Amino acid sequence: MDHHTPAEADPHAEIRAEVRKLCARFPGEYWRELDARRGYPTEFVQALTEAGWLAALIPEEFGGAGLPLSGAAAILEEIQASGCNGAACHAQMYIMGTILRHGSAGQKAAYLPAIARGELRLQAFGVTEPTSGTDTTALRTTARREGDRYVVNGQKIWTSRAEHSDLMLLLARTTPRDQVKKKTEGLSTFIVDMRQALGKGLTIRPIRTMMNHNSCEVFFDNMEVPAENLVGQEGRGFRYILDGMNAERLLIAAECIGDAKWFIEKARSYAKERVLFGRPIGANQGVQFPIARAYAQMRAAEAIVQKGLAKFERGEACGEEANMGKMLAAEASWAAGEACVNTHGGFGFAEEYDIERKFRETRLYQVAPISTNLILSYIGEHVLGMPRSY
Ligand SMILES: Cc1cc2nc3c(=O)[nH]c(=O)nc-3n(C[C@H](O)[C@H](O)[C@H](O)COP(=O)(O)OP(=O)(O)OC[C@H]3O[C@@H](n4cnc5c(N)ncnc54)[C@H](O)[C@@H]3O)c2cc1C
Repeated sequence: MDHHTPAEADPHAEIRAEVRKLCARFPGEYWRELDARRGYPTEFVQALTEAGWLAALIPEEFGGAGLPLSGAAAILEEIQASGCNGAACHAQMYIMGTILRHGSAGQKAAYLPAIARGELRLQAFGVTEPTSGTDTTALRTTARREGDRYVVNGQKIWTSRAEHSDLMLLLARTTPRDQVKKKTEGLSTFIVDMRQALGKGLTIRPIRTMMNHNSCEVFFDNMEVPAENLVGQEGRGFRYILDGMNAERLLIAAECIGDAKWFIEKARSYAKERVLFGRPIGANQGVQFPIARAYAQMRAAEAIVQKGLAKFERGEACGEEANMGKMLAAEASWAAGEACVNTHGGFGFAEEYDIERKFRETRLYQVAPISTNLILSYIGEHVLGMPRSY
């Protein structure tokens, strides 16, 4: 069975095949061993970097592949559909978008080619804080201008890959909330060189989670950031972060679709092979239907995501599709995971089948980078025009 769009209709068929080939070098045992010790897939990230896949969205003039967003989505989908985990490095693809869209010519020249060459890692995105969570504009980390630098104080949480990144894109308040007209104003975006800041006001503490995600708490105690590392204009940072969110949501949705395809393929083939009561378990509709339903959910989510990608690439507003696609894809991957565990019975819980690992990994996407509730409130308010809830 072919889970994909027919090759002739898929402009990224070649990319998909290449990514699949690379991923085949990193089988289940590789991920299982890392999962057990919460290790970082350094070799896998290195291989993706060398092949140029993580620089997919960096324009050619800066040494990247200059692919459209659908190309990056195809890469991430294939990584997940191969049983690998792109969470170790997916942010490298899209965080740089903030520098690309809003950075100065000097910043672009200083960072983008080095990121494309794999010499600099921009994997960390410091937005979420323990007290403000989803209520981003209530964040408390401050950056105070002092001459040619900013002095940063505060804390971030869930800063994924902070230990495996050279740079962090940081959102901090530069004007107190009670001194701005709108709470979305007065926030600024900075490029933090963590190699320089570590031990000089920057502390990183990993958080052990139910899946291997390398997420961290990050503390700032009078950490200094050169003023030239401010991205764009002071006070406009929240807008810059919002600008990147549709791309991020579409890419995460593509990962969920990849996960769903992996679970469906695993469940489908096992349902055909496992014989009980004299026939394959897949002949029982109680086993077959949940897999079929998950497949239908996945294809529906995929269609919305494709629509969102096409709109994004045409420069049209795609907030509706990006949000719906992310929610539906995360729900489809979860439904597929459920069906896959049930189809495998007890074996679904055995580590060597990789199902329980993928099951833990894909659960995240109903919560991060944006929770389903917040997507529903976006649809309710911005698409359907119902009253604002927060
Ligand atoms: C493994 C992992 C990796 C992450 N990586 C990063 C990262 O790299 N960088 C980063 O900045 N962040 C990261 N995050 C943070 C992630 O984006 C947040 O966890 C997520 O946005 C939810 O915020 P919160 O955890 O503070 O929950 P809260 O905001 O406290 O929300 C708790 C619950 O309340 C619900 N809720 C809140 N407000 C409303 C409302 N108005 N209406 C209805 N329901 C509501 C939410 O939907 C959620 O279910 C990561 C999180 C995890 C778990």
